[in-house]
Formats: sequence, structure tokens, C-alpha cells
Amino acid sequence: MTWISRLFSNAQSVTSTKPASIFLTNTLSGSKELFISQQPGIALMYSCGPTVYGPAHIGNLRAYVFADTLARTLLFAGYRVKRVINITDFGHLVSDGDEGEDKMTKGLKREGLKLSLENMRALAERYSAVFLTDLEELNIDIKDIRFPRASDYIAEQIALIKTLEEKGYAYQTSGGVYYDTARFLGYGKLGGIDLSAQREGTRIEANKEKRSPADFVLWKPDSKLGWESPWGLGFPGWHIECSAMSRSLLGQEIDLHTGGEDHIAVHHNNEIAQSEAASGRTFVHYWLHNAFLTMNNDRVAKSTGNVAYLADVLEKKIHPLALRYFFLQGHYRTPLSFSWEALEGSAEALNRLWKLVSEIGNESKRKSEPSEVRDRLLAALRDDLATPQALGILWESLRSDEYTPEEKWGLIEDADAHLGLSLLNPPLPVVVSQKEAPEEIQHLLVGRETARASKDFAEADRLRDEIEKRGYRVEDSESGPKLTSV
Ligand SMILES: [Zn+2]
Repeated sequence: MTWISRLFSNAQSVTSTKPASIFLTNTLSGSKELFISQQPGIALMYSCGPTVYGPAHIGNLRAYVFADTLARTLLFAGYRVKRVINITDFGHLVSDGDEGEDKMTKGLKREGLKLSLENMRALAERYSAVFLTDLEELNIDIKDIRFPRASDYIAEQIALIKTLEEKGYAYQTSGGVYYDTARFLGYGKLGGIDLSAQREGTRIEANKEKRSPADFVLWKPDSKLGWESPWGLGFPGWHIECSAMSRSLLGQEIDLHTGGEDHIAVHHNNEIAQSEAASGRTFVHYWLHNAFLTMNNDRVAKSTGNVAYLADVLEKKIHPLALRYFFLQGHYRTPLSFSWEALEGSAEALNRLWKLVSEIGNESKRKSEPSEVRDRLLAALRDDLATPQALGILWESLRSDEYTPEEKWGLIEDADAHLGLSLLNPPLPVVVSQKEAPEEIQHLLVGRETARASKDFAEADRLRDEIEKRGYRVEDSESGPKLTSV
């Protein structure tokens, strides 16, 4: 049984009653709130996805591990979770702040491809596939998530802009259709953004016809490229795709929306302005944001070159789940400082955990029993996804004599369902340091080394077999024999 079907059977047994209580920090109120879904037992969740002009860096990936932890926690508490992550697959010829070079155009140039909608789509599909593989490597179950492409929702985006125009929230300039932020009461309410400073600022505007610096583009005309619309050939603005796809796939009012904290000020406030002006209803009830990942004391970002990818992790022969473990060691709302040394530390810890868990699996014969520590683990996770505490509880309890192997196995099952670390089926033989191996194995190893040194290979092979019979495999490497438990 996969974790998801196990969770569903578990979830279904609880949906008849009420889902368990979960507390989440809502950026809208700035405080921790009890989660209450709009429809009983169903959680509608949208996460801002990547612009697929290249692979997602590890800072981006932190956002999806966080969203996955949230989804798992909801699922295990008894909710059916409906999820969407959008894929931005065409350029908007404008950046976040409507300025600068478009990312997709940059991607096409980099790959020596001509600027066309077909090439944009092809480039996007290539990197969407990389993105989805990255998520799978991190144990994110992509079968349960919808990944709509923005270019498949052009009609919906145009319809939404038309609604905004009809309701008086949009105005036409020679540089495109703009959203009139002054018309939307409470613009900037997410994260308490002070717009007066921005409005009175002396920033030089690319478009002098904009009524306010905070106004943003809804439709950007283009003389050569794009889609037909009531405003001529061109592209939807970046922010409108999330409003349109969230509405199309999840409805006008949703429960949860996640993203990196860099989206709060502009992108998410703009999504709220668009969606709420169009529907007259609350767009999202719980906004959740993860903090940045830093490296060398600076934000991980493609633009500055201070960047690393999952491909780099794999190239260094570090298991991808070590990255997941590394993310979970920090709370999602706390900035996390990445270094290769720190990741190697996480890999070692995860290896030790896998080894410990497989020992307990043998002792308990994978039979589980409930315990108070299992409740403690769930309480930590349901209190704003306290993953560092959950890992602490797990380590402490598995090493303690206070619990039976069956109670420990029960804890492991729940921890694995929430944390997604493949604890029940460790994906790799576990590397064991010689010092940690049982004394008997250490003796056999020394004996084998002595035999090899005196070129008695028959004896060395015999001792290798003895070691294997006892559940360990030995491989020779440049730095000496490497021991793994099998
Ligand atoms: Zn978005």
C-alpha cells in the first residue's frame, strides 16, 4: 500500500467524524489561526508555480516541500485535499514589477531559439518535465496535484480581464490594459504593505499613463507575438493567470494559497485585487508563505548566480531526500541557510535515521501500536507544521527505552506519512560507519583487511561472505572498506 492510499484509508475513517484541528499562521491576519475549510472535509489549495525557462533552484524547491508538508498534514488530519500548482509557460514580456527582460525570452535566447509561441511552449515543456521529476525525487506525489499550463487558460484570463473592465477596475493605456489599484479598497492588505510610500515615490515609470505606480498590467499588447484579444494581439499580465486558473479549477473562494514570501508584496496582493474585485467574495481564507533559502549569506536566486539545483545535489551523490530532510530541519517561516556541508550533515543524519528505523522494523516486525508520543508528534505538526520539533520527537523517542518497538513503529509510520522521508522503505542500502557496526562485524572486517594485505584473497572472500551472512555488505573504496547494511 502506498502512503497515499494508506492516508486515504485513514482519512476516510475520520471524515465521517470531524477532521483534526490544525493551526496555521495566516499572512492575512499575521497570526496563528485554527484552520476551518469552506466545505466540510475538503481543503482547496493553490500554490504559485514556476516560470519554466530553466530548472527550479533549491530555493524554489523549498516552497514545494513546504506545500507538500501542508498537504500531507491536512490529508492525515482527515481532509480531502484538492491541489493546483500553475506552470507559467509563456513570457509576459514584463517582469514581476512590469519591468525588465522577460524570463522566457531570456530562456529562448540562451538556448539559441527564435522567439515564437511554439518555441516558448517547447522550452516550457522541457523544463516542466524537469520540474516534475525534481518534485518526484523529493517524494512529492505529483499524481494528486493538477499542473495547469497558463497558455491553456488564455480564454479564461481574457474573460477575467473583461469582467474587471466592465466593473470599472481596469483602464486602457497605449502600453496595455492596467488594473486601477486605487479603485480596490484594501489594496495591499496582505502583509500590511504601505502603498503611500510607493505612490509618492519618485520612481521613474516606464509607462507614464499609469495612474499609480502600484497599478499593474492585465494585458500587454505586442505587435508580432501573442494571442488575439479584445485589446489586440498580446499577452496576459503575469498576475492574472493565478487568479484565472485558481477560479477555473478550484472555484471563486478557496481555502489555502501558498508561495514564497517574496510574492506577498506584489504578486499576491495583485491576485487578491483581481479575484476579489471580479467575484465580490473572499478569494483565499488562509495565505501561507515560506521564508527564503539563503546561501553564502545571500538569497538563493538565479539572477545573482548565487544558486544551486537538485541536479547539483545528485551530481555530488547526495540522496535527494537529504535535501527534503534539510528543509524539514527548519521551520517553514524561518529563513534557512544552505551550505554543502550542512546538506552532507543532513544526509548523514537521514542515513542514521534509516538505519535506526530498519532495526526497529525488524524488532517490531512492522507491527504498530498507538502511544502518547505519537499524539505528541501529530500535535507538533498540526501546530503550524513544526517539522523541527517533529524530527526532534522522532529522534528522541526512537533512541529511548521508554517505548516498545511496536510503539516506535507506530510513531515511524505517522512521521513518514507527514515528513515523506521514505522511512518505511529506505531507498538505499544504509552506509554504516565502521565504528557503529557490531563488534563481531568489526572483527571480521579487520580480519579481511589483514588477509587482503597479505594477498590471501581466498580468506578475504570467505570473510566477506561471513560479513554478508550477518546482514552487511562490504565494498572497497579509495578511503578503505565501505560498509552498508542490507
Ligand atoms: Zn501566483
